[in-house]
Amino acid sequence: MTMGFAEAKPRGSALKMSETAVAEKKPDFEVKNISSGTINDTYLEGVEGMEGIKRKPRVVILGAGWGGYNFGKMINKDEFEVTLISPRNHFLFTPLLPSTTVGTLEYKCIQEPVRSIKDLKYRQALATNIDFESKKINCRPVCNDDYCGLDYDVEYDQLIVACGMTNSIFKTEGVSQDPVVNQDNHIYFLKSLSDAKRIRNRLIDCFERASNPGNTKEEIDNALNFVIVGGGPTSCEFAGEL
Ligand SMILES: Cc1cc2nc3c(=O)[nH]c(=O)nc-3n(C[C@H](O)[C@H](O)[C@H](O)COP(=O)(O)OP(=O)(O)OC[C@H]3O[C@@H](n4cnc5c(N)ncnc54)[C@H](O)[C@@H]3O)c2cc1C
Repeated sequence: MTMGFAEAKPRGSALKMSETAVAEKKPDFEVKNISSGTINDTYLEGVEGMEGIKRKPRVVILGAGWGGYNFGKMINKDEFEVTLISPRNHFLFTPLLPSTTVGTLEYKCIQEPVRSIKDLKYRQALATNIDFESKKINCRPVCNDDYCGLDYDVEYDQLIVACGMTNSIFKTEGVSQDPVVNQDNHIYFLKSLSDAKRIRNRLIDCFERASNPGNTKEEIDNALNFVIVGGGPTSCEFAGEL
């Protein structure tokens, strides 16, 4: 069975997975006793097909977010060969993301490079398909929010999928899942570092535009009119920062 990542795109922080594929593929092992920063030795006990394997079991993690990055840090690299695949090469401390849109915090304060994790291999790519029979992941290299190379396969023994979620747009007309398309319509998400950078650049532009000599009051008001859609923690925190 294969699991495709529908509408795979490097932009936007996460991709959708087929619900049936996820429902059918139940995890065939249990993570036991996560304590003092390592995974218990009994981790692979009783895992079918793993008996007598001489090399270290290959654990592949998809995603460098809260789930993937922390799992990558905690897993015992003496016991497992660990590869992390993610289009984003850093962990992002999302609760402080709104502060970077206005410069209260600098971007570097809220990110941690994946490559800082010792003994972990990192591939900057998007997983586009998982073949559960042959235990292979199809990967598409990503640079600067865009594809940048030929697809390749990565084999795994155990797979951790921690790809997060896409933004919900609730079929709102005029809003796209692609932040670059939205930008043309002055619409911004706030989920990734690239989103925060886009917002910050736009805010600076708006303030500069508003301060042009000879502006009418209406032109100034228009340039400084920001609308926040949504009333959750992210919107409220951004409103506070703005
Ligand atoms: C602005 C903001 C503030 C927040 N504040 C809080 C808070 O205060 N408290 C709280 O509990 N939660 C907060 N959250 C929510 C929290 O960030 C999420 O619940 C959390 O990030 C989910 O973790 P995750 O590991 O599932 O996914 P993410 O952290 O979203 O990570 C997903 C990772 O997978 C990668 N990825 C996506 N698709 C693929 C693919 N196909 N192949 C490989 N890699 C892929 C992404 O690039 C990313 O690295 C906030 C979120 C935002 C946006």
